[in-house]
Amino acid sequence: MSSLFSVLLMLVTIINEKQNNHQNVENINIDNIYGRKFDYIVVGSGSAGAIVAYRLADETGATVLLLEAGGPQTIYNDVPAFRGVVESGVQNWNYPTNGSIHLDAGRVFGGSSAINTMNYYRESPDYYRLWADITGLQEWTFDKVLPYFLKSENNLDAKLVAKYPQYHRTGGRVSVSTIQPIELLQKVLISAQKFGLKSTLGDPRQSMGTTVFQKTTDANGNRVSTGTAFLENNKLKNLKILGNSLVTKILINKQKQAIGVEFYRSDRKYRVFANKEIILSAGSLGTSKLLMLSGVGPRDHLQQLGIPVIADLNVGRNFLSPLATMMTFDIINQSMVEQQTDSLDNIIDFFINHTGPLTYSALSALICFPELAYNQTYPELSNGCLMTRTGQQGNRTILYFLTILRRPKATGRIELVSSDPFTEPIVNMCLVCQNSDVDNLVKIIKLAIPIFTSPYMKQYIRINSPIAGCTPCADNYFCDDYLRCLVLNRHNIPGPMGGCRLGVSSESGAVVDKNFRVFGINRLRVIDSSLIPVPVEQGNAISMMIGEYGAHTVINS
Ligand SMILES: Cc1cc2nc3c(=O)[nH]c(=O)nc-3n(C[C@H](O)[C@H](O)[C@H](O)COP(=O)(O)OP(=O)(O)OC[C@H]3O[C@@H](n4cnc5c(N)ncnc54)[C@H](O)[C@@H]3O)c2cc1C
Repeated sequence: MSSLFSVLLMLVTIINEKQNNHQNVENINIDNIYGRKFDYIVVGSGSAGAIVAYRLADETGATVLLLEAGGPQTIYNDVPAFRGVVESGVQNWNYPTNGSIHLDAGRVFGGSSAINTMNYYRESPDYYRLWADITGLQEWTFDKVLPYFLKSENNLDAKLVAKYPQYHRTGGRVSVSTIQPIELLQKVLISAQKFGLKSTLGDPRQSMGTTVFQKTTDANGNRVSTGTAFLENNKLKNLKILGNSLVTKILINKQKQAIGVEFYRSDRKYRVFANKEIILSAGSLGTSKLLMLSGVGPRDHLQQLGIPVIADLNVGRNFLSPLATMMTFDIINQSMVEQQTDSLDNIIDFFINHTGPLTYSALSALICFPELAYNQTYPELSNGCLMTRTGQQGNRTILYFLTILRRPKATGRIELVSSDPFTEPIVNMCLVCQNSDVDNLVKIIKLAIPIFTSPYMKQYIRINSPIAGCTPCADNYFCDDYLRCLVLNRHNIPGPMGGCRLGVSSESGAVVDKNFRVFGINRLRVIDSSLIPVPVEQGNAISMMIGEYGAHTVINS
């Protein structure tokens, strides 16, 4: 009895301490803020923004105000297995599209890094070669961006760091861990390797074959977001952090200089000013929305909404995302998969022993098919991949696989619905209107199915019921007609990004130049996933790299 009591006491103490760290992140009183000037104002504390604010304050000594629409993280953010709880709650913007799909994005300190699946993935050197070619900016090749990945990295896999010392390191603020996939996912990887797919585990230069994602978790199994890594417990007196503050307008003077921002907190409007610069890190939809509300965007669109145009730029265009479909299989032997319940035993295991099913989060295995390389110019750039995970269906655990067309032809537009800053923007996108996208997704599923239906996998999983509204063929269950029907009826866009593309000039459709400056407006930069020109469903490590690169550029230009 007394030992249970001391375990519970220890549990309460640990949870309290974590909760206090989250709650104490804000360090400026709203009453002291109205009309004040800071050297820099950073809007949005996500994967990129938290890093930008921290580095500017730490490396220049300048005064920095970080404004975030969401509030502090909670204990749920720390536990990888509770990812679904935070994703479905108030910490998600849940942005609308013109279809039935809603887009996830974090509204909390740490932004999407606080609610995401924690996969740490950088993409291949060919990805950055395409990025540099599309933008005309050779500053974005793999060699050029690598130092900014390394700067924040604290890779806890000593073997990996020893094997690839030029690509990984310890000592940065973001811990990254290798997590062993559960037994069933290991079986899927073995099955894939039986079809000739090679293991690329840990090799940062390879993208074709099978791998297991590293996760942004620390040595105790806790999620690491940029909020926990850069903002909580920071010792910087010149970095002021304020949450629940929705920035609604960038104040731009007649000389087209950004001089301050307007924001709302608890229904009251405030204005703050910047001596030096304003940096937008509000994420793909947030940054485009804010620019357009402030008169920076496509002339026609702004005029339709009665917003005076300050700079006619392609804001909101080039919205990008991979295109995905999902299939499920029934797991025959349910004892192969651990239940991720929030039982007291599991909670004690997680917080005190740092083990158990709560340390595990979904989607940890990735398979990319060499048959579907982007094109011959970029042979190591994958275009067709699948990710697998387990999940619940009723009282059974099932195996999902998500087939992903990484660079579809379909692109979208982020548009304002009205000039009211409290109305969310909408993404207009016709997802399965391009025949080649549908054909390619069918091809990926056809490459994936043999892996899941092989005699080896039949010991562990079996076909689930058909997709509602689609009929498998009598002679060949997964015939093309059935798969086309699946793609047309069951698709999603994991990993929205873009909207403010990087490039050499506004005439080329770009919004942001190589120094992250918004064309035509002084003292205004965009540093987040909205400048990305090539889609990928894993934007977290890349956005952190953008944060490091952007901060370095601001400091040195
Ligand atoms: C559910 C989910 C799962 C994902 N899984 C993975 C994964 O496993 N691996 C991976 O690599 N990527 C993953 N991603 C994608 C990845 O997390 C994002 O690409 C990345 O975090 C984007 O970083 P960002 O800095 O551009 O924006 P964000 O991190 O989204 O930050 C933007 C911040 O700005 C704030 N903001 C917005 N508007 C305003 C405003 N007007 N005023 C003040 N603040 C504002 C937001 O609240 C937010 O905190 C996932 C994303 C989600 C949502």
